[in-house]
Amino acid sequence: MSAEVETAFECTNEPPHRFAIVERMRNRDGVLLTLKRLDAPYPKREMFITGRELKMGYDNVYKACFVCVDQGRKETAIVLAKADIQAGL
Ligand SMILES: [Zn+2]
Repeated sequence: MSAEVETAFECTNEPPHRFAIVERMRNRDGVLLTLKRLDAPYPKREMFITGRELKMGYDNVYKACFVCVDQGRKETAIVLAKADIQAGL
């Protein structure tokens, strides 16, 4: 087991955009993530996961894919595993 391995996340677009979490910061209201796109060069983007989203009874949190949104698509989501959102926090 290595903490150095980046877990890749995909959005539900076809073909999917791929991301990795490069930074996590917990605050009172949730966890602030910094996401790096893996399948193409793209500016990093921050994404906030609320404590309420983390408390819901599912393994994954679905967030709008910012690359898709930038391209005018709104029906897709990045599937983030809660375990990875909170890894090391
Ligand atoms: Zn996407």
